[in-house]
Amino acid sequence: MIGKCPYCQQLIGTVNVQPIDAYEGTKTWKAGVFTCPNCSSILNVSIDEGHRAQWIVDQIKDALSS
Ligand SMILES: [Zn+2]
Repeated sequence: MIGKCPYCQQLIGTVNVQPIDAYEGTKTWKAGVFTCPNCSSILNVSIDEGHRAQWIVDQIKDALSS
């Protein structure tokens, strides 16, 4: 399905994605920024849920081992 970029009004069938760091207080999450291939406007930013899930697992392991 092809959508329309809300900024340049061009029909887009793909988006560009690049890794980016998302800061939350003192924690840094791996994230991705999705941009329009025509005008490079940011369409969405999404945190890497796999990275966050691994962080939670590591926190639980640390709590159980201490
Ligand atoms: Zn655009």
